[in-house]
Amino acid sequence: MWTEKTMLRIPGPTPIPPRVVHAMGTPMIGHRSGAFSNLLVQVSEELKPIFGTKENVYILTGSGTSGLETAVVNAIAPGEEVAVIVTGSFGDRFAKINEKFGITTHRLDLEWGKACTPELLASFLDQHPQVSAVFATYCETSTGVLNPVDQLAKVVKEKTDALFIVDGVSCLGAVPCKMDHWGIDVLVTGSQKALMLPPGLAFIAASQKAWDKIESNPRPRFYLDMVAYRKNYEKETSPYTPAVSLIFGLREVLQMIKEEGLEEIVNRHEIMKEMTRAGIKALNLPLLAEDQYASPTVTAIANCPRYDSEELRKILRTKHNLVLAGGQNHLKGKIFRIGHMGYCDASDVLITLSLIELALTQLNVSIELGKGVKAAQEVLLQYV
Ligand SMILES: *Cc1c(COP(=O)(O)O)cnc(C)c1O
Repeated sequence: MWTEKTMLRIPGPTPIPPRVVHAMGTPMIGHRSGAFSNLLVQVSEELKPIFGTKENVYILTGSGTSGLETAVVNAIAPGEEVAVIVTGSFGDRFAKINEKFGITTHRLDLEWGKACTPELLASFLDQHPQVSAVFATYCETSTGVLNPVDQLAKVVKEKTDALFIVDGVSCLGAVPCKMDHWGIDVLVTGSQKALMLPPGLAFIAASQKAWDKIESNPRPRFYLDMVAYRKNYEKETSPYTPAVSLIFGLREVLQMIKEEGLEEIVNRHEIMKEMTRAGIKALNLPLLAEDQYASPTVTAIANCPRYDSEELRKILRTKHNLVLAGGQNHLKGKIFRIGHMGYCDASDVLITLSLIELALTQLNVSIELGKGVKAAQEVLLQYV
């Protein structure tokens, strides 16, 4: 098996474009140099359209979770209560971070695979009008659900004075996002999902309303103190040594995004989602998320009695060099997930579906070879 040909179709980390790998090998520079200041300002500016904000986007050294923790420790003061929408394992993580800090956390727990509707959030906030923040996950990676954060933001504004804090780690850069216009107060993402970089960077932006809160929040924090990031950014630098090489890579990614265009990128992901779902449906395999709330970046295939999903993944990995993701928490061993974000296109989806058909046949599941691929090709034909 050629490891350099391994097809990594998991929802993060995702494959890195060769030109980004190359850019990360740029000779090191000092992070207090003018060259680094120019680099930092350039990439920070170019991240704004991905967030849909005029606010500054700050770059942290850490995985996506460092961004989630940053949101909590900066925006929530001691003694405050919060609401967390839990549609899967990453909503659960946001709740756990709050709970670890001793923050009274009201969980809006939904069945995994379902999205949070504005109606559900509205009635939940009627019961908890005192919360000072509402946390949501834009794409719930563990289930492939894209929560309607634009509509949820409206509900938060109507029902409370709370901050609306969103985890966009597994979809920003692949889906529409209008942080300012929708009314998201804190938005977080990470490097290793749709942004085509290795793990190691987190990105965070905050609204004016959130900044007022952050600046006056007495909760202790040091490495993840957003005020330190803000003050240093005014001097075109960062408080601590940043991951310079990853930021060289980020500059290249942002160049690629500029070349393709954000709108085109959103379309590409939309097409990959539709192809994947059409193919899976044609094979009569069950999808976990409903069409209306399906994420353009990851598709989860629900539990199916016709095969063992771990066996299927094993054949794909060992015989066909294709890596898919399993389920998390209680869905472990029950579902499998296809990541289709970042450096990934329609051809990759066709290969993936074709290999899934092959592996199912090897497992003696009765399917018609080519049926899923054909359905996906028919979707693609509408766009090419
Ligand atoms: C991947 C991911 C994270 C971050 O996880 P890390 O392992 O810390 O990078 C957070 N939220 C969501 C929705 C994710 O998909």
